[in-house]
Amino acid sequence: MKEKNGTIDNNTLITKEMKKSYDVVVVGSGPAGASAAKTLIGSGLDVVIIEKCSLPRDKMCGGIILPSARKFLSENYDDIPKQLFTEPKEIKGSRYMSTCDPQAQVIDCPGLDLGDTLPNREFGLSIDRVGFDFWLCKESRALMADNCLLIDYKKDGRDISVRVKHDGNYMRIKTKYLIGADGPISRVRRSLFPEFDKTLNWVALYEEHYEGKIDLDPEWMYWIIDPISFGSLIHKGGNIHLNVSNSKEETAINALKRFVSFLKNNHGLKIEKKIMSRGIVMNDMPYRENYLLGKENVLLVGESAGFVRALDGITGALVSGKAAGEAILQSIKSGRPPMEHYSEHELVHSEWAICKKVQPNLANYGFSFGK
Ligand SMILES: Cc1cc2nc3c(=O)[nH]c(=O)nc-3n(C[C@H](O)[C@H](O)[C@H](O)COP(=O)(O)OP(=O)(O)OC[C@H]3O[C@@H](n4cnc5c(N)ncnc54)[C@H](O)[C@@H]3O)c2cc1C
Repeated sequence: MKEKNGTIDNNTLITKEMKKSYDVVVVGSGPAGASAAKTLIGSGLDVVIIEKCSLPRDKMCGGIILPSARKFLSENYDDIPKQLFTEPKEIKGSRYMSTCDPQAQVIDCPGLDLGDTLPNREFGLSIDRVGFDFWLCKESRALMADNCLLIDYKKDGRDISVRVKHDGNYMRIKTKYLIGADGPISRVRRSLFPEFDKTLNWVALYEEHYEGKIDLDPEWMYWIIDPISFGSLIHKGGNIHLNVSNSKEETAINALKRFVSFLKNNHGLKIEKKIMSRGIVMNDMPYRENYLLGKENVLLVGESAGFVRALDGITGALVSGKAAGEAILQSIKSGRPPMEHYSEHELVHSEWAICKKVQPNLANYGFSFGK
């Protein structure tokens, strides 16, 4: 399909040329940005999702779709395509073990209350985040511009002038509404509230994926409780994923080495090949109930706004994206700023209530946040 203002790949909806203006610019192609775009697109608004990485992009994540996210998806999306599931598809629940326990026993976790659990209390479905997030974006039917980094933006009368670097070229785009769905290190949030970002504390997480074997049932997630660090282990697509957090006392890489030897000595871990390693940071916004929704016609959604329900960040992203999209549509009808509708939105308040209920459970696992 050839458009007047750009060339669009009909299968991926990725545009290689950007127009000079859009009604809504969504920054970030994760579940929050995809959900906001999907809510807006049916209304006839001209919406573009900009993404700094090449699409489809990867995201370090367990890729477990928890019951609340499944409920949201079943109410708002077609069925998740079969090819996006990874083996084992169904995760029965979580179990923990402690590096301080001489028997290294594996114990079922007391159920984490994650809010609107499904009636049969199924736990999770395992998906491939690369394909899943791209599917969510394509379901929105919004155009996407990848390799498109938001640099900054400024107010231009009632509009917003957004500066991006798209495929190596700097350009400005005009928009009426800007949605910051750009994850934990959000440039949209930092531009809006520079002082706020200085108050945040951070933790780094590191993971390695292995081909190999371990004497643990692959249909469960495992938490590794430790006085210094915090770890988790899942099976995905036949591989073992081991994830650790860093702390003031120990780097994540050293913690991982200790956890590997703990698992070798106690649970028969045999690593045949390390297939990848990567890291990510997260901040303590949700753990301090320190949420930010935005200002006037700039709205923050998903992790950039602090919407992360303990282990379940995908639900908070989907729900807040929908709420922000609806707030913009309500604002067009009412003439009031979208931020007013967003901050009054029922989904925002129910999400905060759930976060408040579940966050203290995770605090017990002991992430060590710092500057
Ligand atoms: C180790 C780990 C495991 C997790 N496991 C799970 C799990 O199993 N289940 C679950 O529900 N949640 C899990 N989460 C949480 C979940 O991954 C996040 O909460 C969720 O991805 C947040 O979605 P989002 O759309 O807000 O942001 P993201 O998914 O982070 O998307 C933000 C996007 O914005 C893009 N971007 C950033 N800056 C710019 C810029 N300046 N210009 C253009 N684009 C930009 C990024 O490249 C990215 O694609 C996990 C998190 C971590 C750290």
